[in-house]
Amino acid sequence: MAVPQNRTTKSRRNMRRAHDSLVAANPNECSNCGELKRPHHVCPSCGHYDQREVTAMAREVDIDEDAA
Ligand SMILES: [Zn+2]
Repeated sequence: MAVPQNRTTKSRRNMRRAHDSLVAANPNECSNCGELKRPHHVCPSCGHYDQREVTAMAREVDIDEDAA
């Protein structure tokens, strides 16, 4: 099994981890509904992208009414 030849110092370890932090998302406003959405992604609330509907959003269905 490979074993590190040299101990990684706290300094080297921490320097390596200096770039590991997460960055905040950069949401855009949807041009159709105004909800915040990820850039270059279909809007999750209205299904629009580039001014047109590309994903049909599911309508809310009342299960009790459907069964009757
Ligand atoms: Zn939208």
